Amino acid sequence: MANWLQRDKENREDLLATAVHTANQILDTLPQRPAAINPPPTTQTDLKTDGIGAKAALAQFQTRFGAGMSGGAGPRYFGFVTGGVTPAALLGDWLTAVYDQNVMADMDSAAFQVEEEAIHFLRQLLGLPDAFAGTFVGGATISNFVSLAQGRQWAAQQWGVDVTQTGLYGLPPIPVLTATPHSSSYKSLAMLGMGKQNVTLIPTLPAREAMDVAALEAQLAALQGQPAIVIASSGTVNTVDFDDLTAIVSLKERFNFWLHVDAAFGGFAACSPRFRHLLAGWELADSITVDAHKWLNVPYDSAMTFTRHPDLQVAAFQNTAVYLGPLADSPSLVHWTPQNSRRFRALPAWMTLMAYGRSGYQAIVEQNCAQSHWLGEQIKQSANFRLLAPVYLNVVCFTLAKDGVTMADIQAYLDRVRDDGRVFLTPTQYQGVPAIRAAISNWQTEMSDIAICWQALIDCL
Ligand SMILES: *Cc1c(COP(=O)(O)O)cnc(C)c1O
Repeated sequence: MANWLQRDKENREDLLATAVHTANQILDTLPQRPAAINPPPTTQTDLKTDGIGAKAALAQFQTRFGAGMSGGAGPRYFGFVTGGVTPAALLGDWLTAVYDQNVMADMDSAAFQVEEEAIHFLRQLLGLPDAFAGTFVGGATISNFVSLAQGRQWAAQQWGVDVTQTGLYGLPPIPVLTATPHSSSYKSLAMLGMGKQNVTLIPTLPAREAMDVAALEAQLAALQGQPAIVIASSGTVNTVDFDDLTAIVSLKERFNFWLHVDAAFGGFAACSPRFRHLLAGWELADSITVDAHKWLNVPYDSAMTFTRHPDLQVAAFQNTAVYLGPLADSPSLVHWTPQNSRRFRALPAWMTLMAYGRSGYQAIVEQNCAQSHWLGEQIKQSANFRLLAPVYLNVVCFTLAKDGVTMADIQAYLDRVRDDGRVFLTPTQYQGVPAIRAAISNWQTEMSDIAICWQALIDCL
């Protein structure tokens, strides 16, 4: 048996030097790498009995898949909402694997203290009061899930039921009211047994994606005190429109609802004095979702879930029946999220926040918004495209100018753009119109990248 594990252990320094060298090569050429790739089909190889060692494995990976890696972390990947990785976040992520802490308890490592401090930094960055407890999770979808689980816990409690003990059996459906939710909220409701069809879509304001709060008020009044969940959007994916949280929060005085704010990327508007007002009122929400692998520019998979009701979060995710003492004194993280064992995902966030601070993030946000604005202006002035909504923040939502444009037209055009390689954008539908989104949330993106993007969009027509 070729004992590769032993040999790699002995060659560790050399292997890590190779990793550094390889990483530098990749990062040096990231701006030139195709933003996205349609990989050619591959033939799978079989597992080898004795392996080939780490260095040869890396060579295999590079040969077979290296060229197929997209520039997703690079400056012109504008699909979905995609952040990059700051240098400090990268350092933190490497060390996360080196330390390999299982951040599920406070009894064996200081890792949970790093998590608590990262959450503290984030509350300060985002202007959230200390009343919010925060936890790291794998993404905004899981954050929405954790938040809505608390909403479910609360609503069932209103009916006198502990839903973790008895389930939803016998309870009336819990109404969920929302205007322009992210698809992951539906997924979360499905996972929670609450049913996608129990969502009531509240109308939006004219030519907006923001909720018509008067319509919400009417719906809440019709519930006659029945507990409900309201999901507000702080940054819709198509146009980054914001629900009026101050108005929604004020309805809490008269109506019985849990307010969840999905601020996956829009929450970062709070980093800038220019945009902070868009989130006014969120400090009075019950739960909040903020993604980290988007605008915080840490590696996948990382997000935060914030709550003003940590007791309900623990009630929903408590892992044992053992009495835990006062719940606020129980930092044992197995009781806080769907996961038991957890990656030390706070470290990249802590590192990047420590390294770049408040002004670093303000600059990233404002720069990406200015870039989006500029792209929006080009589109507005072009006869070939049609801007579908004002550029509120960091997403440009537009379509091809031809009459009766179909989803197939958009897809064919976006395939050409992807194959061109200079930029990557993703399709959507906006108010029934097949459309294109460019979401700019990478710290590395420069104005020159937007100019390259604009030229590519014209060349691919
Ligand atoms: C991206 C996004 C999500 C889902 O986030 P993941 O990190 O992909 O799980 C949820 N809500 C909003 C508003 C988003 O933009």
